[in-house]
Amino acid sequence: MTNYSKDRYSTDVLVIGGGIAAVFAATRATEAGAKVIVVDKGSIGRSGQTPFASGMTIFDEESGHDRANWHRILEENSKKLNNPAYLDMYMDYSKEIYSDLEKWGATNTGFGKVFRDKLLANGNIKVIERTMITTLLEENGHIVGATGFKLDSEEAVLIKAKTVILCTGAGGFKPNGFQVGSLTFDGDAMAYRIGAKISGKEFVDTHDTNSETPAYCWGLPFQRKWSMGLPKETDGPVDGGGMALDLSSAIEAHKGLIPVEMKRPEGPPPGGDNPPMDKRPKGDRPPMGKKPEGRPEEGKAHLEMSGDMVGGASAGLSVHKAEGLFPSDDKCATNIKGLYAAGDCLSSMLVGPIYNGVVGFSVTGSAVQGSVAGKVAAKYAKGKSFINISDSKMSAAIDEIFEPLKKEKGYSPGWVEHLIQGILTPYYVLFIKDKDRLESALTMVEFYKDHFLPNLKAEDLHDLRKVNEVKNMLLNAEMKLRSSLFRTESRGNHYREDYPDQNDKEWLAWVVMEKGPDGKMKLEKFPVKDFKKLIA
Ligand SMILES: Cc1cc2nc3c(=O)[nH]c(=O)nc-3n(C[C@H](O)[C@H](O)[C@H](O)COP(=O)(O)OP(=O)(O)OC[C@H]3O[C@@H](n4cnc5c(N)ncnc54)[C@H](O)[C@@H]3O)c2cc1C
Repeated sequence: MTNYSKDRYSTDVLVIGGGIAAVFAATRATEAGAKVIVVDKGSIGRSGQTPFASGMTIFDEESGHDRANWHRILEENSKKLNNPAYLDMYMDYSKEIYSDLEKWGATNTGFGKVFRDKLLANGNIKVIERTMITTLLEENGHIVGATGFKLDSEEAVLIKAKTVILCTGAGGFKPNGFQVGSLTFDGDAMAYRIGAKISGKEFVDTHDTNSETPAYCWGLPFQRKWSMGLPKETDGPVDGGGMALDLSSAIEAHKGLIPVEMKRPEGPPPGGDNPPMDKRPKGDRPPMGKKPEGRPEEGKAHLEMSGDMVGGASAGLSVHKAEGLFPSDDKCATNIKGLYAAGDCLSSMLVGPIYNGVVGFSVTGSAVQGSVAGKVAAKYAKGKSFINISDSKMSAAIDEIFEPLKKEKGYSPGWVEHLIQGILTPYYVLFIKDKDRLESALTMVEFYKDHFLPNLKAEDLHDLRKVNEVKNMLLNAEMKLRSSLFRTESRGNHYREDYPDQNDKEWLAWVVMEKGPDGKMKLEKFPVKDFKKLIA
C-alpha cells in the first residue's frame, strides 16, 4: 500500500476534460440537478483544442436550412460513413448552444476565460485542474470512478462517481504543427483498458503546416482574428465539400506526380525562429473553395519541402469526431454502464471519414454532444447509490501511478516519445498506407510496448505525466495501425496503396475494436445501417 496522500471525492457526475464538451456536459448536468466534478490535466477552456476553435456552424430552419438536404449532403460528402443519428442530434441542439454562448458572452471574447469563470461560479461544480486522470475504475461492467495524480504535488486523487462523462478530446503523437500537443488520446486508452469499444482510428486528419516553421499551423492567422468574435456561419454544408481537406494531393505527390522539391529553405531552419509578422501568411478566412493567401500553389501541396505547406501537422490525430469511444446509442452512452463520452473522444462520425468542407461542425459538435451527455448522465445518476470500490483495486491503481517515480533505473518517457514519433509521423505510414509498412510499424510498436513500457522511469511529476501519455500514445498507435490494416479499401481520409478503391460492397461499415478475452485487440466490422437497430 502506498504512502502517497490521497484526495478523496465523490460525485453524481464526474466530467473528465475541460474543453467545450466538458463545459456543456457539466453545466447541463447541474441544470438537471446533479452534483458534478470536472477534472482537467491542464486548465478549463485553455487546454486541448477548444481555445483554438473559432468558426461555428448552426443548423437553423429559420435561415432556410433543410434537414433532409443536410442529411443528403453529409452522407454524400462523407462517403456514406457518417452517423445520421449524431447529425440529427447536432441539428436539434446547435442553435440552442450558440444562443447560450451568446448569453455567456463567449461569442465576443473567445472561449477560455468565459468557460473557466462559468464553471468556477457554479456552486454545484467542483473544478480540479492540473490533475491527470490515469485510470477509470469499473466493477462488474459498471463505471464507479477514476484515479489520477496532481501535477504540482505528489498526491493521488480518488473520485467515486455514479456516472463518468469522458470529454478528454482527441490526440496526436505530440506533433509540432496543429495544436494538439497536450492531447494523447487518454480517454480512449483508459476506456479501452476497462473494456470499452473504440472506433474511427484509421481516418487521418489532414491539416498542414509550413516546412520552415513547422510549429506554425495555417490556422493561426485566422485564429488570431476570429477568436475575438465567433462567426455564426449559417451557410451549412456544401455539395462536394468533402474535398476541402483530403489526402488527394499527398497521394499524387507520393506517386511522383508532383515533384518533391528538397531544396533547403532560406532563413531559419525548421524548428527555428518564427518569421517576422510581416512575412507570415496573411488574409481573412477565404471563401469556401478558395485557398487562403500563403497556401501552396496548385500542384505543390503537402510534400513540397521548400518552405511551403507540408502535411503531417497533426500527426496521429484522426478527422475530428471520427475517433473515440464507439457509442452504444444516439445519446453518447457507451458499452460500459454509466460511462458516457462526448466531443472529440466520441466516435460519433458526425462528418464521417473526411472533413465536409465547412468549418464549425467540430467545436459545435463537441458542445452539442456534451450538453446531451450531461443531461442523460444526470438523469442516470438520480436515485442511484454509489457502487463500492474495493480497497485493493484502489490501492493497486495508485501504486501503479507512482511506480515510475520509484524506479532507480529505466527509460526516459521523452526518449520513447521520440521513438514513437519517428515510427508514426512519416507520411508513408499513417497517411499513405500499405500492408508491409503498417506491419513493420506495428512490429516496432509492439516491441516498444513489451520492452519499454514496463521500464519507464519518471524523474519528476512532469515526467510522470509523460509516462502515462506515452502509454496512451502507444496503445492508440496500435489501434491506428491495426484498424488501418483491417480496412482493406480506401475511403475518405484512409488511403491504402494496396487497396486503392472504395469498396461499398464490403465496407459500408465502421471498424470497432475492443480488448478480447485473451487481452489482445479484437477488431470487427459494424455495418453503418445496423446503428438504427441499436437505437430502435
Ligand atoms: C488550431 C485549431 C483550430 C480549430 N478550429 C476550429 C474551428 O474553427 N471550428 C471548429 O468547429 N473546430 C475547430 N477546431 C476543432 C475544435 O477545436 C475541437 O474539435 C473541439 O474544440 C474539441 O472540443 P472537446 O471539448 O471535445 O476537446 P478538447 O477541447 O480537446 O478538450 C479536451 C480536454 O481534456 C483534457 N484531458 C485530456 N486528457 C486528460 C486526462 N487524462 N485527465 C484530465 N484531463 C484530460 C485536456 O487537457 C483538454 O482540456 C480547431 C482545432 C484546432 C487545434
